[in-house]
Amino acid sequence: MASPLSLLIIESDSSEVFRLIREVKANGFSPLYQVVSKAEEWEEKIEEEDWDVILCGMNWPDEKTIHDFLRFLKDRQIDIPFLLIAEKSKYETALQMMKEGAADIIDHSTLFRLPHVLERERRELVFRREKEITANYLEQSLKEIQVQKFALDQANIVSTTDANGIITYVNDKFIQASGYSKEELIGQSHRILKSQDRTKEEWYDLWETIQNGKVWKGEIRNTKKDGTSFWVETTIVPFSAEDGSIFQYIAIHNEITNRKLAEEQLTHDAFYDSLTELPNRALFLARVEQKISEYNLFQKGFPIVFSINIDNFKRINHSLGNESGDEILVIYAKRLLKLCDPSAIVTRLGADSFAVLVTDCFSIEEGTEIANKLLENLKEIIPFQGYEIFLTASCGIASYGMAGKDGENILKNAEIAMFHSKSSKVGTVSVFNQRMQEKINYQLEIQNDLKKAIEKNEFIVYYQPIFDLAANEICHWEALIRWRHPKKGMVSPTDFIPMAEDSGLIVSLTKFVLEESALFAKKMREESNYKFSVAVNLSPQVFLDQNIFHWVVDIQQRLGVPYECLQVEITESLAMKNLSETIPILSNLKDIGVKIALDDFGTGYSSLAYLEKLPLSTVKIDKSFLNNVIPGSKEAILLVSIIHMAHGLGYKVVAEGVEDISQFHLLREYECDLIQGYLLSKPLSLEDAVSFLENFTGIQE
Ligand code: C2E
Ligand code: CA
Ligand code: CA
Repeated sequence: MASPLSLLIIESDSSEVFRLIREVKANGFSPLYQVVSKAEEWEEKIEEEDWDVILCGMNWPDEKTIHDFLRFLKDRQIDIPFLLIAEKSKYETALQMMKEGAADIIDHSTLFRLPHVLERERRELVFRREKEITANYLEQSLKEIQVQKFALDQANIVSTTDANGIITYVNDKFIQASGYSKEELIGQSHRILKSQDRTKEEWYDLWETIQNGKVWKGEIRNTKKDGTSFWVETTIVPFSAEDGSIFQYIAIHNEITNRKLAEEQLTHDAFYDSLTELPNRALFLARVEQKISEYNLFQKGFPIVFSINIDNFKRINHSLGNESGDEILVIYAKRLLKLCDPSAIVTRLGADSFAVLVTDCFSIEEGTEIANKLLENLKEIIPFQGYEIFLTASCGIASYGMAGKDGENILKNAEIAMFHSKSSKVGTVSVFNQRMQEKINYQLEIQNDLKKAIEKNEFIVYYQPIFDLAANEICHWEALIRWRHPKKGMVSPTDFIPMAEDSGLIVSLTKFVLEESALFAKKMREESNYKFSVAVNLSPQVFLDQNIFHWVVDIQQRLGVPYECLQVEITESLAMKNLSETIPILSNLKDIGVKIALDDFGTGYSSLAYLEKLPLSTVKIDKSFLNNVIPGSKEAILLVSIIHMAHGLGYKVVAEGVEDISQFHLLREYECDLIQGYLLSKPLSLEDAVSFLENFTGIQE
């Protein structure tokens, strides 16, 4: 049967009230409840019933209201368990409220602790009330009859001391709780219990209260003989002789260690990262705020925040598994902590992201120097289960003032600067500036708009001609995607392809490019009997995860475009990633006649040995490779040998990014087969490509 519960809910949001009631009912309570949705109703409703418990949401427009409720209860000495329903982000405030009398915090998203806490608080309330009655009764009766060592030993930890605070009596429960023997305790002062957590002033207040003949109540954290802590809720009753002088004190203690440990755990979990034991974001931000106030007061300890992210940590998780990844993160966190000044605060923000607050620099330049040194030292190899793990990290720096006035903003800007390092030069340090913010905003906008761009038909395929030197004609084209953004104009694929890859949108984009390219080839064949192939770029997400072979077969069957008209371009790093997976896919495509080009050769591994293993048709030499080629240079010799080696394997060579005629002459001399670049034409829309072909008469020498 459901157990009855009288419940006062302080919550302004009615849907939240229903959720709480549902939860309470679902857990076997039959609640009689009232709701306080406005602060004015509070006083009236609290008097209305003898409430078992108060549940209070944290979403009051003014948090001060909750402080007011708690003060009201305290002032009127109303003892009703007060439970806060708080989101993680409000834990810090909620913990402050626990100091003001709230009994516990229930996590807003997982109310599963609620019934347990309700039950516990109800039990404790009954217990407290009984104890209060006992204590009052005791105080009176003991005063009357002045008898010591009463039978209350049965329920509580009891001790008596003389007027000087020397222990004269302890009951068995006291002995059990403290771990000391009777002999060790009698004759000692309570100092033997090395009470903690209270200031000198608080102890002074306690003594003053009881020396004035008043009862003192409060929580005390004591130390057992074995060094561990035990908490007690204590009532100290002074006894006075007829002349008013105090001759002894009786202390009645109720052990609350379990509750305190649970509270401590809650505090710990709310502020520390469970994996590395480093402070978490919330605690870190609180420390930054603290340092900002100190800096404003004393002009010392200029707060600078480093955001540090390990480069490509995914690789570790993928190759060694998440568990090993976690262990490596713990080692990394320890190393980071050791490398930082003891005054620095080091935090783990999540996954492979850390932040450091330094306050021992006088300038941002000094901070940058420290950050550079830190990154250098962090690179040291981590020996792990027989492996040697080499990790680099990228760092962003933001300082108080220049990059924000509060912790949140400074940290956010340090992260922006860190992302800037990642995108410009991995493994380096960048100091935040406003332009980075603008760039991030731009990227965020692009990311948002990208999702809708396909439906809105904003993509268009451009084609860049590829010239065959021996045939003296254009016999290939490369399809390059373009995004006509309604506000930003043409957005470069280098800006949105990585995002499309991350979001999976690249699959439909590539299908679109393939389809358009095939239509382009078909149109030209049918209208002008012009035969050529179009190359489509394939991202790893498409090449490895999709059945590209079926895509091509489907296109051929639907549109009747011969396989020879299609070409795919894959990058070297993709091809090498997993040879046993890539080779069969490539072989199948090659067998039906689809040409395969290895893109951007010369930027990655540039492994000539691997070239031999792959079923290719063409090798495309990256434009950066061409920049440094001067006749007779080392680069020129390398270029010639790559061309010869590719020819030896039966592959054609395309030189990309050919911009001037001297490069063209050189490439012809080196027996390069094909060229692509602005010398011939920039990528063109379909209409422009058609008219380009009509007017093309060859390269003007
Ligand atoms: P990529 O595959 O290396 O394409 C060649 C890039 O070089 C193109 O840039 C092209 O416009 C540019 N280019 C060609 N000739 C010259 C030249 O003479 N000088 C200079 N400076 N640049 C030249 P684009 O169109 O901006 O594309 C950039 C990259 O975006 C491509 O590099 C490719 O990796 C990617 N991409 C483009 N379209 C697609 C697509 O449909 N799918 C996938 N997965 N990636 C694409
Ligand atoms: Ca390409
Ligand atoms: Ca390329």
